[in-house]
Amino acid sequence: MGGRAGRELATLTSEFAEHTPAQADDFLPGPVLLLGAPGVGKGTQAQRLMADYGIPQISTGDILRDNIARGTELGKAAKGLMDKGQLVPDEMVNDMVGARLAQPDVARGYILDGYPRTLGQAEWLDAHLATAAKSGTPLVAINIRVDEQELLRRITGRRICSACKHIYNIYSKPPKHPGVCDIDGSPLQHRSDDTEAAFTERMKAYNSLTAPVIEHYCRQGRFREVNGDQQVEQVTTAIESALKALREAGK
Ligand code: AMP
Repeated sequence: MGGRAGRELATLTSEFAEHTPAQADDFLPGPVLLLGAPGVGKGTQAQRLMADYGIPQISTGDILRDNIARGTELGKAAKGLMDKGQLVPDEMVNDMVGARLAQPDVARGYILDGYPRTLGQAEWLDAHLATAAKSGTPLVAINIRVDEQELLRRITGRRICSACKHIYNIYSKPPKHPGVCDIDGSPLQHRSDDTEAAFTERMKAYNSLTAPVIEHYCRQGRFREVNGDQQVEQVTTAIESALKALREAGK
């Protein structure tokens, strides 16, 4: 979805309608990594950044779920691991990301959502971008932080539109009609790994495997943290300010 289409969609939802994009000028953030634990709002924020900047969201979780829905070999191999809250092997996701980054729509920048999740993936990505020589603008990483207790509520309440992928929460941001998307009337879905048991596993994987990725990008210096425990609009504003500050600092 491009910038204009994104903004048109945005005007249809009350949440987006309240949101005045912080970047009304020609600013483009280039390649962005959105990092953070399950439920911090990476997907929601990636959708809003996509609408504001007109650059694609690349969610490895979404690509995997699409493979499961289409019954591909990759989807069959990933489903059991995903349902248990475990990570899919690095080679599988690296190949997926490599193929996606070869598409022409990433030329102006992109938002990687939920990748990299291990140090191996981060190192693969750094090497891939260095050798592919297509990273005119280096990556910047934003870590969204939310207290762990709040995350469980967010995860178990999450519902996603089966068509446009807009994200709701039955506790904090319910649709106008239960189970139905406000935007296009399609049924909402509850992800099979958005259960308490899978959340516990996902947090374990996050703490042991993904936390070092945050340190990795922090050490590189092109990194900011934002507080994800505030209104959706305020989180977007914080991310957009951080992106601008990073790029203005020549990062
Ligand atoms: P997400 O939609 O980002 O919450 O991802 C859902 C699930 O997909 C995760 O719990 C993993 O099982 C799998 N997954 C998504 N991205 C990755 C990744 N970068 N590395 C390994 N597994 C992933």
